[in-house]
Amino acid sequence: MGKPKAIVDKNICLACGGCISVCPQDALYMNGGRALVTEEKCISCAICIRICPIGAISGRNASNEI
Ligand code: SF4
Ligand code: SF4
Repeated sequence: MGKPKAIVDKNICLACGGCISVCPQDALYMNGGRALVTEEKCISCAICIRICPIGAISGRNASNEI
C-alpha cells in the first residue's frame, strides 16, 4: 500500500489557490471552485496540508495521515 495522498474537502475549500502555488509536484489544480489533487502526482509531502489556511486538506486515510 502506498502513502496516503492529499485530499481536499470540497465542502470547505475557499479556492484561494494557496495549495496550488506551493505544491512541488504540480499535483493540485482548481476545478469548479475548489482545489483537486491528481493522486498520481502527489508525493505525500504534506506541504499543502500545512499551507491551507482553513485545514481543508488532509491525508486520504484517517488512520495513516500524511
Ligand atoms: S502532499 Fe505535497 S505533493 Fe501532494 S498535493 Fe500536497 S503539496 Fe502536492
Ligand atoms: S489552500 Fe485550502 S482553501 Fe486554498 S485552495 Fe487549497 S484547499 Fe482550498
